[in-house]
Amino acid sequence: MPELPDLVYIQDKLKEELEGMKIERVLIKEPIVLRVLLKESVASALAGARFKTVFRHGPFLGLTFDNQLAMIVHPMLAGKFKLTTDTQKAGRGVCFSFLLSDTRTLHYLDDKKMGKAYLLQSGNYAQIPRFEQQGIDILSSGFTLEKFQALIEKQRKQVRVFLMDQTLLSAIGNAYADEILFDARLHPKTLCNQLAEQDVENLYNSVVTVMNWGIRKIKQAGQPIEVKVRGHVKVRNRKDQPCPRCDSIIRRAGVLGYDAFFCPICQPPKRKQFIEWK
Ligand SMILES: [Zn+2]
Repeated sequence: MPELPDLVYIQDKLKEELEGMKIERVLIKEPIVLRVLLKESVASALAGARFKTVFRHGPFLGLTFDNQLAMIVHPMLAGKFKLTTDTQKAGRGVCFSFLLSDTRTLHYLDDKKMGKAYLLQSGNYAQIPRFEQQGIDILSSGFTLEKFQALIEKQRKQVRVFLMDQTLLSAIGNAYADEILFDARLHPKTLCNQLAEQDVENLYNSVVTVMNWGIRKIKQAGQPIEVKVRGHVKVRNRKDQPCPRCDSIIRRAGVLGYDAFFCPICQPPKRKQFIEWK
């Protein structure tokens, strides 16, 4: 699934490849992922349009066109973009494709068909569920320690749940939530109000450094945009493997319906009753 560092990479690549490029034709295979908030069809609205820019807003990726329209994509678990030349295959899960004027094609693929692509007038984003409800962008300069302290101060929830609340912090997914907590040496079920001032400061620093580390690693890997790059992660999906810091065995626990991966030695629970290892 694309998380923030993946989206930053995809945004940069698409920007590089698409700005100024013209769409010749639109092919739609899975209209179920499309939400057309216009009177026109996607095909007629976008044929002949040129890409203006590509932007990111939390977990959303936005493509804007020179005809005042925009397509806002929320890829959810499995949505991805893929650029192919005329001799390459798109692969499985194509939902729609833009045939570009330079003979390449931009495909949107989604095996699970859970993602959504909204086509609408540029700027009318209040119509998109959860778009305007995003919390502070954790990659923005406004995301300061003071802002983070103010957000976490009122919370009583588990710290992993807090990190993943997109109405507060935009946006941390499952993989990087685990990596951040590992970096900050906090057990995923720690309650926000159990954190000491120093824990909160460490956690803030971990959010910033881990997200930037993820962005750097994905950029270094230099894979095509449809490839999920996770080779660098230290605990996510590494159950029963040795902790890279202390060599103990990485464990998995359920945190409100989500799987969390952590090291029980580096990330001890604050109180005994929070141990619920299966
Ligand atoms: Zn460890």
